[in-house]
Amino acid sequence: MSLLSTNENAETVHSEVGKTQRQAGTMIELHSVSKTYINSHHALFDVNLKINRGEFLFITGASGSGKSTLLKMLYGAELPTQGEVIVDDINVATLGSYHLSLLRRRMGIVFQDYKLIPQRTVAENVTFVLQAQGYTRKEIQRRLEPTLKLVGLLSKADRFPDQLSGGEQQRVSIARAIVGTPPLLLADEPTGNLDPDNSWQVIQIFQKLNSFGATVIITTHDEQLVRRCNYPVVQVKDGKLYRK
Ligand code: ADP
Repeated sequence: MSLLSTNENAETVHSEVGKTQRQAGTMIELHSVSKTYINSHHALFDVNLKINRGEFLFITGASGSGKSTLLKMLYGAELPTQGEVIVDDINVATLGSYHLSLLRRRMGIVFQDYKLIPQRTVAENVTFVLQAQGYTRKEIQRRLEPTLKLVGLLSKADRFPDQLSGGEQQRVSIARAIVGTPPLLLADEPTGNLDPDNSWQVIQIFQKLNSFGATVIITTHDEQLVRRCNYPVVQVKDGKLYRK
């Protein structure tokens, strides 16, 4: 039986984020966070930031200003040299690898370079994480079609990544990030390789997910894109954060 034979729609699956997650309160807090890489200057210095549940936030800044470093600390790929990073009420630095992997299941992470598996189809790229996490075939089936619909790729479920445009590949990577309906979405320069039309499509998908209740944090150096939306913005400059 095909995995694409469910009657679920995007709203019923993805609005579960709003129904099943705590909507009030703080999703992320950075307390006096500094990050110094070995043999490097401060990437971030004494940064404080609070992001509420359900917020949509852009993090802007020039290349090398520390945007990726900030996101990496949220998903535990880098630890702060000083200070505390609290995500979903958990101090990330205190987690061992098992509990960090559990926290990451509550995040969808999107990268500039898509990171798709070339030998797998769109549907397989989107579902393999759920399979690895032990979701039943029925539950995977329930989630796949509405997720592909939401990113506008239902008709391309059986294609391989090299049969897709860059914009489509990025939308596959978003589908993969959101198919588990995580309450927190982190995207590191998700439009960095895309033209303005495709960038706007990607932002609109994140807007929709935000309207369903997800907290969305996007780094970008595209000031025009940020201006086109009307969301809060923080700028990283010389390792410091500024509210714009
Ligand atoms: P952005 O995402 O804004 O382009 P990054 O967070 O990637 O910036 O980098 C911030 C600073 O930290 C840069 O000066 C960069 O060279 C440095 N940096 C990033 N990652 C590492 C690393 N693994 N080792 C040493 N320095 C790094």
